[in-house]
Amino acid sequence: MHAHDAGQIARISCGHCNIKRYYKPAELREVIGNVSIDEVRKHARCQACGKKEFMQAELIHAYGQELVRIRFRRLKEIRWERRVVWRDE
Ligand SMILES: [Zn+2]
Repeated sequence: MHAHDAGQIARISCGHCNIKRYYKPAELREVIGNVSIDEVRKHARCQACGKKEFMQAELIHAYGQELVRIRFRRLKEIRWERRVVWRDE
């Protein structure tokens, strides 16, 4: 996903719950890698209903007033869980 254009926004929505969420493409890249918006859709799961099959993802442009109204879901942190693996001698 090459979204060098600063005005580009990733909109991920659930058609089942009618929830739309807006992301910064650079932050999605950080989480799932440099993939196409179609790949983003395949990774997406709705937090409300837990389903994947109704997810849509698209890159949109927003300017001016429209951009001001958008509330982004920002990346807060990436947590790496510590996992312990045992081995018998
Ligand atoms: Zn949903």
